Amino acid sequence: MATIISGKEVSAKVREEVRKECEQLAEMGITPGLAVIIVGDDPASRVYVNNKKKACEEVGFISEEYALPAETTQEELLALISKLNSKPDIDGILCQLPLPAHLDEKAVINAISPTKDVDAFHPSNVGKIMIGDYDFLPCTPAGVMELIHSAGIEVSGKNCVVIGRSNIVGKPMAMLLLHENGTVTICHSRTKNLKEICASADILVAAVGKPKFVKADMVKEGAVVLDVGINRDKNGKLCGDVDFEEVAPKASFITPVPGGVGPMTIAMLMKNTLKAAKLQNQL
Ligand code: NDP
Repeated sequence: MATIISGKEVSAKVREEVRKECEQLAEMGITPGLAVIIVGDDPASRVYVNNKKKACEEVGFISEEYALPAETTQEELLALISKLNSKPDIDGILCQLPLPAHLDEKAVINAISPTKDVDAFHPSNVGKIMIGDYDFLPCTPAGVMELIHSAGIEVSGKNCVVIGRSNIVGKPMAMLLLHENGTVTICHSRTKNLKEICASADILVAAVGKPKFVKADMVKEGAVVLDVGINRDKNGKLCGDVDFEEVAPKASFITPVPGGVGPMTIAMLMKNTLKAAKLQNQL
């Protein structure tokens, strides 16, 4: 049976480190500030934003929420971002995605100042990640790496397979594994022989968005399995992209859902906001 890597525990540790550093910054008169923009009333987005606000309060950050109605125009949203870009007490800005269909997500991401882009979605930050010279890492892949490190797992030389190639998870995930000298394969909906490729992985990351997609026959005996998915099963119960019951007996390490990668994302957001505050203050 696999060892369960607890995102709950590791994320609590990361947040505690951030809280301590925040205390030190407070002695210098610096309080990191995060602005979170939410447009419309998507219930999942609302839960994420509330959790982010709560995490900010716990570590000692200022958090500002900008809840805009669903009919907000592109111009109004861009004007708010522009205002926040030059607001001195705000170090990090994030706009909760997805946005209502009439808004241009790409333009919104591009409008956030790269120095305040704590999601690391701006093309300038994405490019920096590509060349391995970055200030911010995207929160979810960075959280997965933190889980890998916490379990003492060596990436170098390992066969790493990432299922999913989104800009937010799959692609940067692959890049971070590559930076640590993994031999990385990225799979997607057009991949042939998906089962065989996955079964060759020493480290398998699932970021598909399909409940219990990864079955035991896709996993090598002793593999490390990291589950990014957040889905609902047929009974409405939260579950990952990995069929945990089937896969856990075969894996050496596995992350659960909930309580795995999910809590890491917010912890890494706190870490990025702290970093942004330090950069803003030339520290
Ligand atoms: P996307 O829908 O953007 O990407 C899904 C990827 O999976 C795509 O690249 C797609 O391929 C691939 N895919 C879909 N079907 C198959 C298939 N049958 N075989 C192989 N590949 C397939 O999702 P995200 O990357 O944004 O998110 C992935 C999951 O992670 C979701 O469940 C999401 O909720 C969760 N998530 C969790 C976070 C956390 O904090 N834990 C944060 C962000 C996301 P193609 O490109 O060809 O379409």
